Amino acid sequence: MKIHHLTAPEALASLHSAADGLTEDQAARRLKEFGPNRVEQLARRPLAIRFAKGLTHFFALILWVAAGLALIAEWRQPGQGMAALGAAIVGVILINGLFSFWQEYRAERAILALQRLLPHRVRALRDRVVTEIPSEDLVPGDVILLQEGDDVPADCRVIDALGVRVNNATVTGESLPKARDARPSSEEDPLRAKNVLLAGTSVVSGGARAVVFATGMRTAFGTIAHLTQTAGEALSPLQREIVRLSRVVAILAVALGVVFFVIGRAIGLPFWANFIFAIGIIVANVPEGLLPTVTLSLAMASQRMARRHALVRRLASVEALGCATVICTDKTGTLTQNRMALKQAFVSGEVLDADGLVARAGASLAARKVLEVARLCHDLKTVDRNGRPEVVGDPMEIALADAARRAGLDADRAQRMDEVPFDADRKRLSVLCRTPEGPTLYTKGAMETVLPLCDRIRDGEAVLALTEERRAAVARALEAMADRGLRVLACADRPAADGEDRTGLERGLILSGLVGLEDPPRPEVPGAIRTCRDAGIRVVMVTGDHPHTALAIAREIELVRSPSPVVITGDEIRRLSDTQLQLAVAAPEIVFARVTADQKLRIVAALQARKEIVAVTGDGVNDAPALKKADIGIAMGLAGTDVAREAADMVLVDDNFASIVAAVEEGRAVFDNIRKFLTYILTSNIPEIVPYLAFVVFKIPLPLTIIQILAVDLGTDMLPALALGAEPPNHQVMQRPPRPRTARLLDRPLLLRAYLFLGGLEAVAAMSAFFWVLEGGAWAYGDRLSGSDPLYLHATTACLSAIIVMQVVNVFACRDHRASAFSFGLFSNPLILAGIAAEVALILLIDYTPWGNLFFGTAPIALGAWLFVIPFAVGMLVLEEARKWIVRKRNATSWLSGR
Ligand code: ADP
Ligand code: MG
Repeated sequence: MKIHHLTAPEALASLHSAADGLTEDQAARRLKEFGPNRVEQLARRPLAIRFAKGLTHFFALILWVAAGLALIAEWRQPGQGMAALGAAIVGVILINGLFSFWQEYRAERAILALQRLLPHRVRALRDRVVTEIPSEDLVPGDVILLQEGDDVPADCRVIDALGVRVNNATVTGESLPKARDARPSSEEDPLRAKNVLLAGTSVVSGGARAVVFATGMRTAFGTIAHLTQTAGEALSPLQREIVRLSRVVAILAVALGVVFFVIGRAIGLPFWANFIFAIGIIVANVPEGLLPTVTLSLAMASQRMARRHALVRRLASVEALGCATVICTDKTGTLTQNRMALKQAFVSGEVLDADGLVARAGASLAARKVLEVARLCHDLKTVDRNGRPEVVGDPMEIALADAARRAGLDADRAQRMDEVPFDADRKRLSVLCRTPEGPTLYTKGAMETVLPLCDRIRDGEAVLALTEERRAAVARALEAMADRGLRVLACADRPAADGEDRTGLERGLILSGLVGLEDPPRPEVPGAIRTCRDAGIRVVMVTGDHPHTALAIAREIELVRSPSPVVITGDEIRRLSDTQLQLAVAAPEIVFARVTADQKLRIVAALQARKEIVAVTGDGVNDAPALKKADIGIAMGLAGTDVAREAADMVLVDDNFASIVAAVEEGRAVFDNIRKFLTYILTSNIPEIVPYLAFVVFKIPLPLTIIQILAVDLGTDMLPALALGAEPPNHQVMQRPPRPRTARLLDRPLLLRAYLFLGGLEAVAAMSAFFWVLEGGAWAYGDRLSGSDPLYLHATTACLSAIIVMQVVNVFACRDHRASAFSFGLFSNPLILAGIAAEVALILLIDYTPWGNLFFGTAPIALGAWLFVIPFAVGMLVLEEARKWIVRKRNATSWLSGR
């Protein structure tokens, strides 16, 4: 007999367990025997193969061809140093392969580390108490408690259940939620048995107690996971653009090489020498380090976000965040502290404060019934926290239960028989309890959903008919409380009969009163809202709460400032067509109240139809579609359900709105950073190409050799570029409107600034240094110099060193395209200083060690050659500062702007 054929007690017995679970001892022994409850990742591809991949991609292949050609050249024309060049290119491929491998590895580690920050926990009965344990520690025989929104952590058999429906899509592919209960099943296939909950699926509604019968790889999900291991993360749009862009640049480089080769032939250069130059041009222009550097800056940004309490689940969302134009946010817990305190009550036509209500409990039946609802009608659980019982659950329910306890009401005299669970769409919760007065139904919830179920109202000890007049009085009291920003609940009850059917439970209720709870805004939220306003991001409140409460809070946090803001309720949304809703969401300040989850989805869709990039928060199961639909779905880490977290792109560890804004800031910085290092590495291409052009056109000695070009592109430029990729967001990123999703990384202003302006200045400096040394050595135009002439070696070293000096200054210029280089603190990004130190150390090694001299064809130049470049460097800085000044002054967005 399979476990789903048995009755619940038999199933427990077959697993040597009991209704109150295992003891810690038993669990520990079983954990040893069965291993942790984990779906093991298949072994990753061997490191050697992953490394080999880095040596065989598109750019690497171009370089291999170049190295091969250099060796052929050596064979045909020995003695020109072609073998050394070939070896150098192979070295470049290897170093570059290692480098990308390392960056990819680091990026991957960063993501894994993030995922580990979000452990799954489950409530299990151990030693007869409900204990929260990591789901990895589950063993067969464990009895666990599951409720709406929980992931099922292992395959288990239901022991008892209330209104449980599960979503089995991940395992069986059925998309509709299926009901589950504890009755034995005659089904053959355990996947279909109605009393089995499968690992990897989730509970959509209700609550259950179940016994685990399979864990880890023995679960149905584990078996499937064997077959379909995840195919790895897809490239983000930004990464795809980088791939495209570097292909284009590589093709350009090849084209350039061909053109130079043709020119060289035309002016009669010897074939092989010419050939090698063409290869040099190609090698110099292929952007080898681009993609891994981009991936690394995304990964570093996601780590910075994690430090600011936002965990990104996909790298792609880092950049999407930077484009966000609208943030739709929940109210409770995100904008507010979710620290509820009972402030007011409306009972028997009277407004009371919390103490007043508690004091009235003995004298007024109405007040006592309100407190009875507070005491009994909730989803609170008592868990074991280090040996002490602790009540966990909705802070609002905790506040209410506390008030009831203060009034001396005793919960133990009532036993819960059934419940109709709360969800954000019903906006109410009902429980059926056996009390000394007989079975009683207690309901609390939003007044709009509770009042229609009531036909009587309590007044002191009396029960009166709920006339229109009395309804209106209650409605007035509610509005007065809501206008103060209080969260208002209606409390009702009725005597019930034994064995009542649960579908018709909520009817004919007696209203006892209203309670109003205060939930103060988080202190950092008004500042974050202001930041959003400066950053051109609209903040839209989407709440299940009453419109007056919502508006009062919105005003308090200055989300709404105009005297006539747009407040749209769920009922109104229902009446709007998609087009009308699309027009409605254009308003600058909107608050959506009494919204259900599917209406949230419509709001997101309407905003997207207006080409907005939408970030939306959510916590419940029903929020999953909206989270998926949004450009950036944000789930709550504290209050959120597993289902919401799985649907989201990002998880807020502290549920705090301000953390979203911090994450947007980081997202924006990434894009800026990539442009910074693009500008930086593109700049040095010009002083690399100009010498060759001069060599061809003016028939002068070659100012910069191919190996020296490689020394810049793959040596000295690398670390400063990385440092620019890791810049923290600067103070201005949140003072600009969001970047359009279609904004290009490489655009004309950036190319103009890098190539023409900065690159041109560097080329002038490099060529001047070259000629200055030649002149000093009594060289005259037209003289030929051999490649080993000391004068030539000194001159080309001066050219190379000048480029490095200019690039050192350029790092500072590239820190912003607009803000002065001096507006940054010297130590605001220590990586920059480290990068420059590495750059300088490298050039000194190249210039002043015998090995460096031999390999790079350099000579130890005199101090004067360095000093000669200083004015050029200062000049570039001054001109760039002047350009930035003009741009800031005129607020230019033209070709000058660098953006
Ligand atoms: P919010 O957007 O503020 O998080 P919710 O969707 O959580 O709103 O709640 C919407 C409404 O449902 C609340 O205004 C309240 O009237 C009602 N409500 C919330 N929580 C409960 C609960 N635990 N029991 C009964 N009613 C509730
Ligand atoms: Mg809520």
